[in-house]
Amino acid sequence: ALVVRHRMRSSGKWGRAVAMVREFEEQCGTPIAKLRQVADAMDVEMHAGLASEGGSKLKMLITFVDNLPSGILPLVGHRLLCCIAYRDEKGIFYALDLGGTNFRTLRVHLGGKEKGVVNLESEEVSIPPHLMTGSSQELFDFIADKLAKFVSSEPEEFHPPPGRQRELGFTFSFPVRQTSIASGTLIKWTKGFNIENAVGEDVVAELTKSFEKIGLDMRVAALVNDTVGTVARARFSNPDVIAGVILGTGTNAAYVERAHAIPKWHGLLPKSGEMVINMEWGNFRSSYLPVTEYDQALDSDSLNPGEQVFEKMISGMYLGDIVRRVLLKMAEEADFFGDTVSPKLRIPFILRTPDMSAMHLDTSSDLRVVGNKLKDILEINNTSLKMRKIVVELCDIVATRGARLSAAGIFGILKKIGRDTVKAGEKQKSVIAVDGGLFEHYAKFKSSLESTLKELLGGEAAETIGMEHSNDGSGIGAALLAASHSQYLGVQES
Ligand code: BGC
Ligand code: MG
Repeated sequence: ALVVRHRMRSSGKWGRAVAMVREFEEQCGTPIAKLRQVADAMDVEMHAGLASEGGSKLKMLITFVDNLPSGILPLVGHRLLCCIAYRDEKGIFYALDLGGTNFRTLRVHLGGKEKGVVNLESEEVSIPPHLMTGSSQELFDFIADKLAKFVSSEPEEFHPPPGRQRELGFTFSFPVRQTSIASGTLIKWTKGFNIENAVGEDVVAELTKSFEKIGLDMRVAALVNDTVGTVARARFSNPDVIAGVILGTGTNAAYVERAHAIPKWHGLLPKSGEMVINMEWGNFRSSYLPVTEYDQALDSDSLNPGEQVFEKMISGMYLGDIVRRVLLKMAEEADFFGDTVSPKLRIPFILRTPDMSAMHLDTSSDLRVVGNKLKDILEINNTSLKMRKIVVELCDIVATRGARLSAAGIFGILKKIGRDTVKAGEKQKSVIAVDGGLFEHYAKFKSSLESTLKELLGGEAAETIGMEHSNDGSGIGAALLAASHSQYLGVQES
């Protein structure tokens, strides 16, 4: 009798666990009708953010990139105008890419229109965690120091001639209110950074101070968001590129807007008639978003509660932690992993998105990868196949929701600029350049994103919209923008 009772109890618990998963799945639901509502809300917020400063949760930041570098001569229509201002991007340019747990220094040899990127050297440095929440001078000093070391390995043939400074594109992937192409103040931190005395400061001035301290002769020629670098990089070789999306540690999008459609812009109208807008879509929110109790808890425990709501449902920094939170609750309330709850399961961010992706993709018949990850990362041993299947299912629910919401965001942009439908007789191509670990390495995320966008667009329109991986957009794009904003206009490298 005892045995029977025990079995019944455990099957009751199992049933409870399964019910929790079902409930979660339902709350995470993203039927196509809902995605259309999200896209419509995105479109509405884009208008509001462009209309006035502070008009929307979407900041719709003006980037001062109004003349995209292009290796290819423009062919048609208004693009002809840009041609007048085109310059040959040539020479050695540096880039600094800061925006996640690592930063990169790059030396890019540009060969102009015909040759494009001739050579690229780069180094990656991980940022000591204490610098992500310390003081801004400490962080910028650290970066300047690493950059100086990198510069010192510059081959002699590339040393700038006397009187000429080295130039740098600074990719700083946080919300910045730009005051020119090469200056701007930090609005707030995201993605685990939290350095109070940097908010409101000009990040280029801060970085330049650190350069001067150590005598590094380097001028920041362009300050860019990673999404903007991605657009620039991709557009360099493909004039159909209209937007850049980052799906990595954080998420965001930038796109090419008509200058006339930016009421809050009071400056001169750019010759090209266009301006790249950094949307900062990570901060998008809407009552249509499928927010669950786990998202709410993640948000209130975060460094930036109430902020970056869209980002927290989509990006790599958070997806694994959402799965961990659901598993923890199942362990606590339904003894999902047995009578005890592994203390590891309580550690925020211990389950990283790459591990989640590996579990999600596990094709072995006994879900060995899942079993090993649970054991190695969470110290949960002896999981049954049934349990592992549920874990895979959770990964699927969370990743699918994120991917489908990203697709809705992209669809929102296409609506805003009128590329969501095919006009009669016109088959203009539109390409979205995408970069970031989720897109690059999380295969299921990527395929769900692509199929959802197709679904949203429907038949004919789906054929005119492409997505391409813009490799290293944030680094190379920044170098390209540094080149096109070089102060040595007309100076030719040998
Ligand atoms: C930042 C954006 C950035 C994105 C992707 C977000 O957290 O606010 O500026 O583009 O992450 O790196
Ligand atoms: Mg990056």
